[in-house]
Amino acid sequence: MAGADPLLMIPGPTNLPAEVREALAGPGFYHRGEQMAELIKRCTAGLQRLMGTADDVLILTSSGTGAVEAGITSFLSPGDRVLVVEGGKFGERMAEIARAFGADVTPLAVEPGHAVRPDDLATILRGGPFRAVLCAHNETSTGVTHPIAEVAAAAREAGALTIVDCVSCLGGVPVCADEWGLDVVAAGSQKCLMLPPGLAFVGVREDVWERTAGAGMPSYYFDLRKARESLRKGQTPYTPSTTLIAALGAALDLIEAEGIEGVFARHHAMAEAARAAMLAAGLELFAQEACRSDTVTAVRSPEGIDSVELVRVVRERHNVLISGGQAELRGRIFRIGHMGLVRFEHIERTLQAVADTLANLGYECDANAMILAARQAANAS
Ligand code: PLP
Repeated sequence: MAGADPLLMIPGPTNLPAEVREALAGPGFYHRGEQMAELIKRCTAGLQRLMGTADDVLILTSSGTGAVEAGITSFLSPGDRVLVVEGGKFGERMAEIARAFGADVTPLAVEPGHAVRPDDLATILRGGPFRAVLCAHNETSTGVTHPIAEVAAAAREAGALTIVDCVSCLGGVPVCADEWGLDVVAAGSQKCLMLPPGLAFVGVREDVWERTAGAGMPSYYFDLRKARESLRKGQTPYTPSTTLIAALGAALDLIEAEGIEGVFARHHAMAEAARAAMLAAGLELFAQEACRSDTVTAVRSPEGIDSVELVRVVRERHNVLISGGQAELRGRIFRIGHMGLVRFEHIERTLQAVADTLANLGYECDANAMILAARQAANAS
């Protein structure tokens, strides 16, 4: 195995396609030159298609958390009441960010593995007013996709903004920002977009700028109003990662060549495959059936097997990286990321590795039966 690239089946960072690697190794760019302006405009158009919006999508040089933070601090003010859907680490992080900048946070605790119930949300919103609802569309820590269109509808009805963390799903599942009324959408480069970490994206619905005129929490680098002004010139306010933007162009070309719908269908098929295989092995999926994510599958570790150990052995013996659980789920679940450049051969290799390791740790399972179930599920999807 020495020297071979690891297979990244973690929920980001993800595997890099050859075309992206080539772009990363390309020449330097002048960040205020015409070539970069063209590239930024082309990338913006590609991101708009992925976000389902005709409005601005701003490119930031930061990890995904920066986009979430920018989305919160640019449109809210200290003291604003916000309702935050918490059902895992990333919902909790949105609450932490909002609190850090002085928002008055009401958490809506959702049982891990479950999706938020829009009715519960609407009930709390009626006790408002709330300035915004904050929600992770895809809660990576539990493998749950929240019904974000319904969340946004409830928020709009209550006159609140919807600020959404799509870091682990943009480019893997449909995000229809305009149709669903998502006001602010944050995403990152190292998940479904097949890039290294380092770029983040924020889509902003056109009327949000006016609805929030005069609002803002203390910030400088992450002031989206400045980013918006610069975008008019095909620029960013500060020096961006030109290399990553070149690679973003290559990644978006790959997505367009496959077809956006085709990319979503492939993500769904690979998710179905992963889920079917786990069920065929007699394992329990952590997320409830109706809300299982198409980009990450969370699985309960069998009785007596610490998932930290499972993840370690899968990595050391098979050069395949999967993830364990975070916070109170540490040791209790493992997670398989199937986002970005993931095809059936990658799922198959992962299943072989997981089955072999589980067997070594004392849980008998049949790799062939798992792979067969996976193939059938992928074909049927
Ligand atoms: N939000 C979600 C849903 C995520 O999955 C992640 C990373 O895993 C983040 C936010 C944080 O992104 P980053 O680590 O790029 O800051």
